[in-house]
Parts: sequence; structure tokens; C-alpha cells
Amino acid sequence: MEAAYKTCPNHREYVVPLIMTFAFPGAEFWCPYCNCQTGWPFGNTVEAMADEELANRRRVYKRMAEPYLIIIKLSFISRTRSFVSEWRGHGFRDAL
Ligand SMILES: [Zn+2]
Repeated sequence: MEAAYKTCPNHREYVVPLIMTFAFPGAEFWCPYCNCQTGWPFGNTVEAMADEELANRRRVYKRMAEPYLIIIKLSFISRTRSFVSEWRGHGFRDAL
């Protein structure tokens, strides 16, 4: 049995394998071509058989997108940390 890739449903004429990432909360798959974000297992994806061209395309997109995804992850971590430190500083107890 051959492997299948999850591909983006937004552009069928140019097939792009989705990249699995945890950079976007609630969406484990991301399309580097159109910025579509979708989740697992109920997300909107299209299965495509993994041939050599698709494997190469996936490898190139993954390598090109890596710095961008790292920045997105760091941005999310930074926002979460500032929220936690803000919450620790004031506390919800004072709001009640
Ligand atoms: Zn797409």
C-alpha cells in the first residue's frame, strides 16, 4: 500500500501537500501556498497518492517554510507568556 499525503482542498489544479505543524492553535495542517489552516481529524483535506513530484514539492515547501513557522511559534509562545505573567500580576481574585 502506497502512502498518501493530505493536500490542500483550495486549489486542485496545483496540488500542495499540507505541512503538519503546531504553529497555529487548533490547526495541525497548514498550506504553504495559500495559508490555509485545517485541523485533524475533521479538517477539510484531500488525500493524494505520494509520487516523487509530490514528495519533492513537500520537501521544498517544508524547507522554505521552516523559518516562518518558527517565527509563528515563537510569537505564540511570547503572547502566551505575557498573558500568564499579566494574569499572575493582577489575578482574577481582584476582579471579583
Ligand atoms: Zn492551499
